[in-house]
Amino acid sequence: MPAPGPYLWLVLLELALAVATVVGLRFLTAPYGRHGRPGWGPTVPARVGWLVMESPAVLWFLIVYLTGAHKAAVVPLVLLTLWQLHYLQRTLVYPLLMRTGARMPVSIMAMAIAFNTLNAYVNARWIGDLGHYPTSWLADPRFLAGTVLFLGGLAVNLDADRRLRRLRGPGETGYRIPHGGAFRWVSSPNYTGEIVEWFGWALATWSLPGLAFALYTTANLAPRALANHRWYHEQFPTYPPQRRALLPHLL
Ligand code: NDP
Repeated sequence: MPAPGPYLWLVLLELALAVATVVGLRFLTAPYGRHGRPGWGPTVPARVGWLVMESPAVLWFLIVYLTGAHKAAVVPLVLLTLWQLHYLQRTLVYPLLMRTGARMPVSIMAMAIAFNTLNAYVNARWIGDLGHYPTSWLADPRFLAGTVLFLGGLAVNLDADRRLRRLRGPGETGYRIPHGGAFRWVSSPNYTGEIVEWFGWALATWSLPGLAFALYTTANLAPRALANHRWYHEQFPTYPPQRRALLPHLL
């Protein structure tokens, strides 16, 4: 638990944002991708949006980490590697590979930049400075289970995003029913994988900022998974009826 002070307030702010997000998303669906609609101000190509809005999670995270007292310690370096594995992919590889003609409102991009700046700060400051991770943490069941969850979630997320990409040829913008992998069970396995990943991070770091991010991710992606699921049923009368939205057999 972080000591009382400005840092703790920032973590509490992230927890409050998770609550505000899940409440807000009961009334609207974030207007990008298939849920994009006019009325949200100027837009940029989605590819540019993703590259710009995820950049703080790579660069700002690294800067904050490098100012930490434990920046050269083994466990913080392992955790830094896990984080950057996810975010280098999301920031540099995902936008380059994506096949979309969609545009993203600058307002959505700005909100994501603000969130990523906060989230990168609280997590990097924890693992590089405020948290205490002796090398023996590498053998702790929480670290081991968390890392397995993180890497397993990442694998599901990457596989699902790759299957979605392959639904379109170059230049195509339409939507099809995805199949295979975890799409056998749920409509948005990329979100399922992402949520599992960040609960894995919370476990591996055994930290309040890690938990705050996992809860925020769930608050953000669970409502969107439900919206995607409804959208699939509206668009495709033959949509597989046994498929759930986010959690196999449950939700
Ligand atoms: P989506 O599943 O909505 O879209 C991913 C890509 O696949 C887009 O390029 C989309 O095109 C395309 N696509 C989606 N469904 C179909 C379909 N049925 N047929 C053809 N193409 C399709 O994911 P998001 O854009 O919401 O998220 C992208 C990634 O970012 C995911 O891995 C997600 O987990 C992650 N993310 C993480 C968040 C967090 O809080 N940690 C928040 C938001 C996203 P188009 O753009 O044209 O719709």
